Amino acid sequence: MSLAGKTAVVTGGSRGIGRAICLRLAQMGARVVINYVSRPEAAEETRAQVEALGGECSLFQFDVADTAGVQDAFQQIAAECGSIDILVCNAGITRDNLLLKMKEEDWDQVMAVNLKGAFNCIKAGCRPMMKKRWGRIIIITSVVGFAGNAGQANYSAAKAGLVGLTRSTARELASRSITVNCVAPGYIDTEMTSGLPDAVKEKILAEVPLNSLGTPEDIAAAVAYLASDEARYVTGQAIHVNGGMFMG
Ligand code: NDP
Repeated sequence: MSLAGKTAVVTGGSRGIGRAICLRLAQMGARVVINYVSRPEAAEETRAQVEALGGECSLFQFDVADTAGVQDAFQQIAAECGSIDILVCNAGITRDNLLLKMKEEDWDQVMAVNLKGAFNCIKAGCRPMMKKRWGRIIIITSVVGFAGNAGQANYSAAKAGLVGLTRSTARELASRSITVNCVAPGYIDTEMTSGLPDAVKEKILAEVPLNSLGTPEDIAAAVAYLASDEARYVTGQAIHVNGGMFMG
């Protein structure tokens, strides 16, 4: 599954699942553009790890929710790299609370980053793919976008929205040989989940037939497949990587 000669943009590629995706795509030969927003030191660490694998990469700081900033960044990326072949919309945040206690700003922020952020990046990133008549767009949604989760009305609504975005965009871009799919992780061991109390983690594990949290590399493996030529006939789909906790 070689991606030699291809450029991959990974939003939120600086740590967690995004970092594992950057490393995996670099191992497959892609030039990797690592996006981050607030922690340049994490992005630099990912760059160092990609380069240690012999990979080529660059860092781009932008907020996926900032439409004008995204447009500028993608123009610069296309100019610098010559093309954008693979886009992984991975950047995401949580602002959890029960619906009745959820502040409007927590709803808006989660929607802006998780859902509108993907819209912004796809809109800006698909033009070079359309010209080239080849592309791979991979969106990281979540098990809670399918199953729901108490305390995550904003996040699960945004993640469910990404499934609709995936399917509609897949239909629009198919004639240009651009596939659009999503990966729906279960509970993965990253900073996003490290703050969960042990009691909550134990409750989650009790619902996972494979009886462990997933790793960022588990998600990167699904992304690697979808990015490859082998997945050319797969579009508009969701791959669930969740240890069996939800069987959609
Ligand atoms: P982390 O919190 O570990 O990392 C989040 C990444 O997103 C960071 O690189 C961060 O950059 C970046 N980011 C956050 N906001 C923005 C923004 N506005 N613009 C650009 N980049 C941004 O998260 P995970 O690795 O755990 O999650 C990655 C994706 O997987 C998310 O979409 C998440 O919803 C999804 N997911 C995660 C699960 C899990 O259990 N961990 C389960 C299901 C889905 P910086 O460091 O610069 O702020």
